[in-house]
Amino acid sequence: MNILVINAGSSSLKYQLLDPETGKLLAKGLCERIGIDGKFTYKAEGKETLDAVDVAMPTHSEAIQAVLDALVDAKNGVIGSMKEIGAVGHRVVHGGEAFNKSVLIDSAVMKAIEDCIPLAPLHNPANLTGIRACQKVMPGVPMVAVFDTAFHQTMPAKAYMYALPYAWYEEDKVRRYGFHGTSHKYVAGRAAAMLGKKPEEVKLISCHLGNGSSVTAVDGGKSVDTSMGFTPLAGVPMGTRSGDLDAGILQYEMNKRGLDIDGMLNVLNKKSGVEGLSCVSSDFRDLENAAGKGDEKAALAQQKFAYEVKKYVGAYAAAMGGVDAIIFTAGVGENDKAIRAMVCEGLEYMGVKLDPEANGVRGKEAVLSAPDSKVKVLLIPTNEELMIAMDTAAIVK
Ligand code: AMP
Repeated sequence: MNILVINAGSSSLKYQLLDPETGKLLAKGLCERIGIDGKFTYKAEGKETLDAVDVAMPTHSEAIQAVLDALVDAKNGVIGSMKEIGAVGHRVVHGGEAFNKSVLIDSAVMKAIEDCIPLAPLHNPANLTGIRACQKVMPGVPMVAVFDTAFHQTMPAKAYMYALPYAWYEEDKVRRYGFHGTSHKYVAGRAAAMLGKKPEEVKLISCHLGNGSSVTAVDGGKSVDTSMGFTPLAGVPMGTRSGDLDAGILQYEMNKRGLDIDGMLNVLNKKSGVEGLSCVSSDFRDLENAAGKGDEKAALAQQKFAYEVKKYVGAYAAAMGGVDAIIFTAGVGENDKAIRAMVCEGLEYMGVKLDPEANGVRGKEAVLSAPDSKVKVLLIPTNEELMIAMDTAAIVK
């Protein structure tokens, strides 16, 4: 059964058509500038690539229609008809406490996703728009919602509660939710397979290090703690996000620089992280180049990032009472051997022994630790779309 995976933003929509049983990617692409001047991108192996071609897309419905037209196109398509799409899997950012797993979409689910809008005011409305557009263009095709937050709903209260007035949780839903759940779930599943164990048998620390980064403790296949919090601003420093900080800095700098809270949040989300610290870039390739040429702030940003990831690794090993494997995934985790080495350096005392030669690989599943390393270090490219397709297929079956 082929699954169409949709990740809808407010003016864009990413799509992939996958066979979750074989993992085969049939086609993928992007609709951009929806509601503006519509640009359509389509890629399928052995077919002509369409790169940002003009297609009228006044709304998400026309965008979905353009995707379907391309998929069944006589020359460049990959399927004979829409009947070959068994179901649609939608990425939904926030499921709040309502969803601890992926679900078949019905009107009650739509309402519950709407109820989570205050928790993700930019993302959930766009995700809902994508679902409604698909329902309109593909009536009768089952739709499944896969939430970024769902995997983390297994966290115990001591991990998800903040030490704030309890009423803020009860009345306002303020708690740690965590994000990147689909990615952490996927790589945790692959890690157990690579270790030849069942997910229930292993303790894992999953480091999703990309432009946005989060670290998750996975004990027995369940997320028990994660570094992102109420929002994706928390945890380790990121490309442009600060990660954890002393809230007292907000008042101090807002007074000093005459910032209101929106201005402050803009700095914390868009002008901080390794970009803010390095004064160079949010891209780790640029940091490496600059550091290589002697730029001390770029080197400091790399060190700060790796140091904070390492601290989460130590914290989560303590939280779980041990760890069998540390996983590196996402853009930085999959490609940046220097950052991986910096994270693992000094963890020999807890049984982590990186093999410098093995650590040289990029972008493919590999064991990076020495054969005698008690804790395995794994590189696992993430595949959120495949995870969404797998969840979707399992539900509609
Ligand atoms: P993601 O958010 O997972 O797409 O990751 C994107 C980030 O990965 C980029 O901003 C870069 O910082 C980083 N990245 C991608 N390729 C490389 C590479 N070859 N070396 C180091 N960092 C990389």
